Amino acid sequence: MEKIIRDIAIGIDIGGTNIKLGLITPDGEILKKDSFLTSKIESEDDFYNRVCSKVKALSSSLRFQVNIMGIGIGVPGISQSEGTISHAANLPFLKESNIIISLQAIMHLPVYLIKDSSAAGLGEGLYGVAKGMKDYILITLGTGLGCAIFINGELLKGNTGLAGEFGHAIIKEGGRACGCGRNGCLETYVSGSGIVRTFIELLATTDITSHLRNIKLKNITSKLIYAAAQYGDGLALKSFELTGEILGKQLSNLLTLFDSEAIILAGGLANAGDLLLPSITHHIDENMLPFYKGKAQILFSALNTNEAALMKLLYWEQPLLFGKIKMK
Ligand SMILES: [Zn+2]
Repeated sequence: MEKIIRDIAIGIDIGGTNIKLGLITPDGEILKKDSFLTSKIESEDDFYNRVCSKVKALSSSLRFQVNIMGIGIGVPGISQSEGTISHAANLPFLKESNIIISLQAIMHLPVYLIKDSSAAGLGEGLYGVAKGMKDYILITLGTGLGCAIFINGELLKGNTGLAGEFGHAIIKEGGRACGCGRNGCLETYVSGSGIVRTFIELLATTDITSHLRNIKLKNITSKLIYAAAQYGDGLALKSFELTGEILGKQLSNLLTLFDSEAIILAGGLANAGDLLLPSITHHIDENMLPFYKGKAQILFSALNTNEAALMKLLYWEQPLLFGKIKMK
């Protein structure tokens, strides 16, 4: 009997909370997937070891042989031209690493790197709600806040490939400490971790009623705040309202700069769209120059649950989209 060998690629999504790996076919099918917690990683070497052992375990669990074509990785904050990770405020273990060179040396495979928000933005244009749009902005609301700006159908990369680090735009002088080492960055207010900080601040500074007042602070998560808000918890609702207000004001600035057709919100916190949207749209409207008003749509990603589309993009689409960054 003839042996079956299938071409696959490895997609790795490095997030501030989880690192997800998948074995992906050219059609975008996830054959196998696994993940581990980012917080468990002790060092750069530990990260590479975990990736290698997961890839080996996943590949050997398949019933057929595979030909691994390469690795596509999505990370927060990279320099695309060099492969070094910079400004990855939530990934201290990778701060000085050249992930392309290191993984190529260990795995002996071509490695492609893309900023996670760029991958999400490209995915939205290829498979999601931005299909057919030329001017749109994708905002990811995960552990941090990522941003990808598309102008005339092209991703805005900037001089060093880092365009769109809007999460680190300073919105408050002397504000909250950020993982990037500065204070008052947008993502310290508007993100999964930002809303937790808002909630904890409100706990201490207001007497708004909340069922979560007696919970240990370390157990408060954005998911818990969302669940509480859905049951009408005053403090949780206020946290969403304030988050929407800050985001809405900043989105009005973005729309003033780029006159985009749509802003698409993706990532964990965007799943709470029903609670954020009224506040976001109100504050966009209130802060927008009159002639921009009502022209852009605020949409929520449908790709949040379509992991396969994003995983496919990480390797199989990337060499086509970013031919220039191919490194052998
Ligand atoms: Zn920052």
